[in-house]
Amino acid sequence: MRLELMGPPGAGKGTQARRLSGARGVPHISTGDMFREHVRKATPLGRKAQAYLDRGELIPDSVVADMVAQRLAAEDCQAGYLLDGFPRTPEQVRALDAILARHGWQRSAVLLLEVPEAEVVARIANRRVCAGCGAVGRAPRAGTAPDPCTACGGRLEQRADDREEVVRERLKVYREETAPLLAIYRQRQLLVEIDGVGTEAEVFGRLQSALDRVAA
Ligand code: ADP
Ligand code: ZN
Repeated sequence: MRLELMGPPGAGKGTQARRLSGARGVPHISTGDMFREHVRKATPLGRKAQAYLDRGELIPDSVVADMVAQRLAAEDCQAGYLLDGFPRTPEQVRALDAILARHGWQRSAVLLLEVPEAEVVARIANRRVCAGCGAVGRAPRAGTAPDPCTACGGRLEQRADDREEVVRERLKVYREETAPLLAIYRQRQLLVEIDGVGTEAEVFGRLQSALDRVAA
């Protein structure tokens, strides 16, 4: 399956994408994770991306599109993939259209995780991410020591761009630059809207049934 997962920051895209990728046997491609990895390794791309990430702004379309084109050309993507966090602008949709045309591929579906803004703000304030494996955890209760990552025992940290002032900017970018994609994909009859409020397992169940219908 060739899938895209959309939704505002804090909607649970990363968490659900990891599970879906395992369940459906397609690689999870998160542009946010890829940029954070470049920053961590201080590659030339990472040095360019850092300032955008720190401000909650989008990295220029051509830079993201080239990175994704290269990733999708890899062997493990030939039978399918799950894109998380790309495309995020109409220009990125066009870039992906061109990549797909080159490979002779069609999108299977675009999944939208819907979560109200008040809820994503609360979730992000509580979100901690494992420094070791990137798994998502929660903030410790006030006055208690943080628990280690349940997946690898690593240390849980707040993502630099999860600070409140950066989150406000990311939400604004989502509303202004990314939300217009919904109309594009709705018109192409690719958009599948999923209620993103509920437990992780509930939301995962909804995504799985939606994909069963797509595949059927
Ligand atoms: P979230 O969806 O929670 O905002 P991500 O991890 O997907 O988080 O993205 C974090 C940051 O990485 C974004 O704020 C942006 O700076 C950069 N980024 C990720 N994907 C893209 C993209 N497709 N286009 C431009 N910038 C991106
Ligand atoms: Zn971990």
